[in-house]
Formats: sequence, structure tokens, C-alpha cells
Amino acid sequence: MYYVSTRNSKHKRPVSEAIAQGLAYDGGLFTPELLFKLSPNALDTMLDMSYQQRAVYVMKPYLDGFSTSEVAAFAQAAYGNQKFDVKEVAPVRKVDSNTYSLELWHGPTCAFKDMALQMLPHLLTASLQKNAEQKTACILVATSGDTGKAALEGFRDVEQTRILVFYPKDGVSEIQELQMLTQAGDNVGVCAVQGNFDDAQTGVKRLFSDEILRDTLAAQGYFFSSANSINWGRVLPQIVYYVSAYCDLLREGRIAKGQAVNVCVPTGNFGDILAAYYAKEMGVPLGRLICASNKNNVLTDFINTGVYDKNRAFYNTISPSMDILISSNLERMLFEFSGHNGEQVQSYMDLLVREGWYEVSQDIKSKFQKHFAAGYCDDAQAKATIAKLWSDSRYLADPHSAVAFHVLEQYRAETGDNIPAIVVSTASPFKFCADVLDALGEKKIAQGTAVIDQLTQYTGVQAPASLAALKDRAVRFDQTTSREGMVNVVLGFLS
Ligand SMILES: *Cc1c(COP(=O)(O)O)cnc(C)c1O
Repeated sequence: MYYVSTRNSKHKRPVSEAIAQGLAYDGGLFTPELLFKLSPNALDTMLDMSYQQRAVYVMKPYLDGFSTSEVAAFAQAAYGNQKFDVKEVAPVRKVDSNTYSLELWHGPTCAFKDMALQMLPHLLTASLQKNAEQKTACILVATSGDTGKAALEGFRDVEQTRILVFYPKDGVSEIQELQMLTQAGDNVGVCAVQGNFDDAQTGVKRLFSDEILRDTLAAQGYFFSSANSINWGRVLPQIVYYVSAYCDLLREGRIAKGQAVNVCVPTGNFGDILAAYYAKEMGVPLGRLICASNKNNVLTDFINTGVYDKNRAFYNTISPSMDILISSNLERMLFEFSGHNGEQVQSYMDLLVREGWYEVSQDIKSKFQKHFAAGYCDDAQAKATIAKLWSDSRYLADPHSAVAFHVLEQYRAETGDNIPAIVVSTASPFKFCADVLDALGEKKIAQGTAVIDQLTQYTGVQAPASLAALKDRAVRFDQTTSREGMVNVVLGFLS
């Protein structure tokens, strides 16, 4: 199976190149030529498998040139060995009679990004070997908070890689920032950028397309690669947990074989919910894919109207990993719904750059509305949802997951569609202690890392060990740059 660029379906590459390169040279995203279909008894076959085994089953068909034992070793390294603090890796918790929470934050950095970023370094280094690549990969990351830490942790001291993370100075939580600034490893770097996430992301994209910089670094033995969710090596591992969650519900007798289940996903870059679409296309009986946004509701408007318009105010919210106006992975969905029409996708993306907006064809719009629903929620509603989940169900949700719980409730009220639903829970509430405590009604919120103990005392819920240990770790990085200064930060990092 080959991978094609979303902007040119004739541009075919093997998976090892798609993963090593990250982005296609025409600026498109590598996407599989076709989606592999699960056999009719595949879900039964996977019922009693571990998460690691399910990962091999789902991922292997997309990894031509990788042996099964190779992929099994990656799955064990990524999800085994107590890397996750529960043995199910991605447990499904019952919240009420027809609502389940798929908890994707039991990994080393307590955010759903670990699901993919524990796997990507293995896929990438194996790809470099298969491509006989001699140079060292310099992974550049723009982060809205969680990707940065998860990528640093995933790539820490991985051979033949260096990793440099840029984050928006005022766009991440105190704990997220501290997690990054205390990162261990000899091949890592972290730098704040003045501005918001889109500034950091645009800056990183510019570094990728800077040919002079690319040549300078090639002479020093480096090439750029990406750990952002545009890399296929990040999307692929995310398909696994949708398959796995459905298997868990089946195994526990919560649903009948073939029964449809809706999925509600707190969305930013559209990577997580895209993986849900792929799982559905592969044959998992998923119903509506409900796209939940915060006040940065560009996707809600897009799915409801067919117009994608980033010319709007940008808000910093209490769910910072969703503070995004340009959802990069939407491009892959446009590619699917246009019937792999690279020219059409290119024209939309050109309009987005030139005018800041585009409108999709009637055909594409109706395909979106067939599979997706969309809604959004502001900070006050998210906080009220955190309080309600705690008082009704003793379920402690972080602000991102709360957005999805709220949007699911809205969706159910508006449509009457009350079939079982999986809410994707994307971060530990302990990454956002101050806002969670505030939502629960605590008036006097502690400073710094003391909020972690405070949330435990307030709720009786234990904090994840890696967050509880933060207060004892030394800060290693303190650099801040303007967007223009990012080139020099890269040169300094690699010198
Ligand atoms: C990244 C992230 C999201 C958004 O996921 P996308 O794949 O970018 O849509 C939501 N919640 C949390 C906590 C995240 O870290």
C-alpha cells in the first residue's frame, strides 16, 4: 500500500518515506491510497487481545515493509513496560447508562498525545533505517501545550534524533509549561515564542520550507522532520483506540454486536476525530462523529455551513490544546470526501492562505454532514460541566474532555439521538488543576505545583505520579524568541 499527497494523488511513496518526511514536498499530507477493511470477524478476533496486540492487528496492514514481529516490538515498547499507569492502556469508563469515557491520558505525560507519540519514535527510527538515511532527524514541533511534552518524552534520547519544541508563551497552562521546561534528555530543546499557537505553528512551517536553512543543516548532517499530527505516523496509532474501545464495550456486554455507537471528540487540529473516521470506514460500527470545539469554533461553523473561515477573533480558553483556527488534518478529510482530488484540495488550501476562507462543494458538505455533527462550548459551560460530572457521577474531567461532554449533551437534546456514546477524554484533570478546582467551587486556589495536592485533597482522587513529581524537578530551559528569531534558535540548538 502506497501513500499519496493530499494535493497530488500521483505523488506515491512507501510508508517509510511518508513517516520519515512528515509532510509531502508539495505541502500536502501523506494519506493511504486506500483504507484497509477489517474482516467481518475482526472485532471478535480482537475481543480478548491486549491493547498492544490490537495495535499490531490494526496498524500492520498500513505498514508495508515492516514485519509483524517488528510492529509487535514497537507496540510493546510504546504501551507495555508500565509506560501507562493502567494495564488496559486506554480504558473505557462508564459515566452514566449510555455514556462512556475513553480515557487516553494514562501515558507518561497524562495527555492523549502519548497514544501516538509513544509509538511515532519507533516508526520513525525504523523508517530511517529502511530508507538507509545517514543524517540525524531534527524534529521540530509547534505545540499548543500537550504535543510538546509528549513529543519530548517520546523522543528523549532516541538515537539519530534531536527534538526542538516551540510553544506560545502565553498559551499553555503553568503545569504544561513546567512539564516541558523540566524535560530530561540530551537531545531535547524547548523555546517559548511570543504570540499564540498559530504564530508558533506558522513559524515552524516557515522553518520547514526555508531552503537556505535546509541546505545549511544538511551540510551539518541534519534534516527536518515533524512530530505534529500531520505525520501519518501519528494518525495511525490513533485509529487503534477507537477499535479497542468498541471491542471493550462488546466484551463487557455493554453493546450488542454491530450496534452503532456515537463518538464525541474534543477537537483542535482534527487529528483525533480523523482517526475515528478512519476506524469507521475500516468497519467499526461508529455512528455520528461529533466534533466538539471550544469558543474557537471554526470547525462547528464549517461542518454546519460548508464555509471554513479563519478570519475571526482568536480566544485563549481553559482548553488551550483546542485553541486553534487552522485545523491541519481537515485536509485529509477534504481529500477523502473529494474522492482523492488533489487539485480540488490544493485550491481550497490556496484560498485559505490567500483569503483566509473557502467554501467546499455541495457534495463535500453533504458528506461531512452525513458522518459528522458539530457543536461548541465556552469556558463557563465547560466549568459547569466539570462541576456537574463530579456531583452527578463522581467523574473528574479536565476542561477539554468537559467540552466534549457538554457538546454531546447539546447534540442529544437537539437531535434526540440517544444511542450509546463514547466521549473521548484527552487529558488528565491534574494537568489543569487550577481551572478544575475553580469549576468545582474552590475559592482559594494554591500557587504553582501546590494545586496538584490541593485537587487531590478536594476530590480524594490521586494525581498521576509524573505530575505529582513535578515539584521536585529542576527547570532546564528559559529561552523566549520572537517568530523572526526562530531560525537562530534552531541554528543555536544544532550547533
Ligand atoms: C491535542 C489535544 C486535543 C485536540 O486533538 P486534535 O487531534 O488536535 O483534534 C484535545 N484535547 C487535548 C487535551 C489535546 O492535547
